[in-house]
Amino acid sequence: MCLDVDDTLVDSAGSSRHSLRALVGNDRAWSVWQRTTDRYYARFVTNELDFDTMRVERTRAFFAAFGEHLDAAEAERREARRMAAMQRAWRLFDDTLPCLDWLRGSGLRLAVITNAPGAYQRRKIAAVGLADTFDELVISEEVGAAKPDPRIFRTACDALGLHPAEVVHVGDRLDIDAQGAARVGMHGVWLDRTGTADRPTDVPTITSLFELPGLLMSDLPAVPAERRGASGRPLAQLSC
Ligand SMILES: [Mg+2]
Repeated sequence: MCLDVDDTLVDSAGSSRHSLRALVGNDRAWSVWQRTTDRYYARFVTNELDFDTMRVERTRAFFAAFGEHLDAAEAERREARRMAAMQRAWRLFDDTLPCLDWLRGSGLRLAVITNAPGAYQRRKIAAVGLADTFDELVISEEVGAAKPDPRIFRTACDALGLHPAEVVHVGDRLDIDAQGAARVGMHGVWLDRTGTADRPTDVPTITSLFELPGLLMSDLPAVPAERRGASGRPLAQLSC
């Protein structure tokens, strides 16, 4: 069983929004911050920028959008303040621990698959109390490939010692998580916490991690034969 971290287990958007309030006194520019983050985080994920450079450049771009042009030193100071506020606000969603407890109690081996810097993400996982929860932490910076690159999903399956058709991956991004996992023959599940989007036809959708046990015990569709390979088995036959 694989899970994404940010906005799947950890309310990263919530902590980021809190940090923006700490930085500028309100969150009226939240959508600008989100767009700027999407743009710059993508450059980190593709190795165009290292994580610390990305953070500073993102902060400069954000303030530049409002006509304030920061030098690198000032951007670093503001980003350090924002990061400290964000880390104090890291929280699990209410459904995270009950779901993880159920998965553990079912005897499933657990891994995370996350696009992030290794040390930073390990610190976050420990800060929210999950340091001893997972059998494997599969982190893009350490793997050298980021979701939806098939290599990171295959790395996770290999680390668990399982064929992709025996592994479920749940995440909040339809394209990067659920469909990316499905493309390598895993059972991709989309966690749409908004519950408002049109449901895709190619992967199952849940709106809360409370729904995951029911999905696992009921009717996850079998992985199509062309994705399965010779040893693929439907989920209902999974051994733990
Ligand atoms: Mg996520």
